[in-house]
Amino acid sequence: MAVRYSVASDVGRRRENNEDSYLVEGLPGGGLLVAVADGLGGCAAGEVASALAVRTLRRAVGAVGLPEPDGLREGFRQAAAAVYAAAAQPGEHSGMATTLTAAVVAANELFLGHLGDTRLYLIRDGAIRRLTEDHSVAEEMERSGEGAAGGRENPQRHVLTRALGVKADEEADFRRVSLEPGDRLLLCSDGLTSLVADAELAQVLAGTSVERSAQELVRLANDRGGYDNITALVVELPA
Ligand code: MN
Repeated sequence: MAVRYSVASDVGRRRENNEDSYLVEGLPGGGLLVAVADGLGGCAAGEVASALAVRTLRRAVGAVGLPEPDGLREGFRQAAAAVYAAAAQPGEHSGMATTLTAAVVAANELFLGHLGDTRLYLIRDGAIRRLTEDHSVAEEMERSGEGAAGGRENPQRHVLTRALGVKADEEADFRRVSLEPGDRLLLCSDGLTSLVADAELAQVLAGTSVERSAQELVRLANDRGGYDNITALVVELPA
């Protein structure tokens, strides 16, 4: 499958370390495994958590030889167990955690797994659709109808309600979505989506080749302050 893609990951303008990690890997069966993880924890523990999650996912999905969707489920199970075990050790990595959003992309469908607030969007015919729900206090409040009640001022709104490393068996969301020729996918960390609205993401993607899209999105977030690490991974299916 001749997919095209681009990826860019940047520390941003305020942080000292880039705690985001990403993965693009062709699978023996012909699909493409893509992932973005956004690590949490002080003293560089976040980047350890996100790198461990992505590395474990890659090994598990490649090694188990399970047909999708079982391969991705097994990858999430192993990644959650690995980050939890490392975070439970006393020392500098204690308490670290990470988001993880990943998908196995085939010619006519994708299977995605998701924990945290790293997002996956589908862009088709210029329209953008988010395929993931944020596991954050803000979105949980909106989903439960409490969003209007001072939600934007709530200092807890960016706090995650689910992430890898918090529990040994943290449950991810899984979803299968049909794809069409020419579809684009965007995986990105909240360093992008907290500064660039969905409609603007669609606009940039519509006006930019896939090869330049990831870098262009990172540049836009940096132009607006770059308060967090920024990772964008763009995939385009053949037309
Ligand atoms: Mn972030």
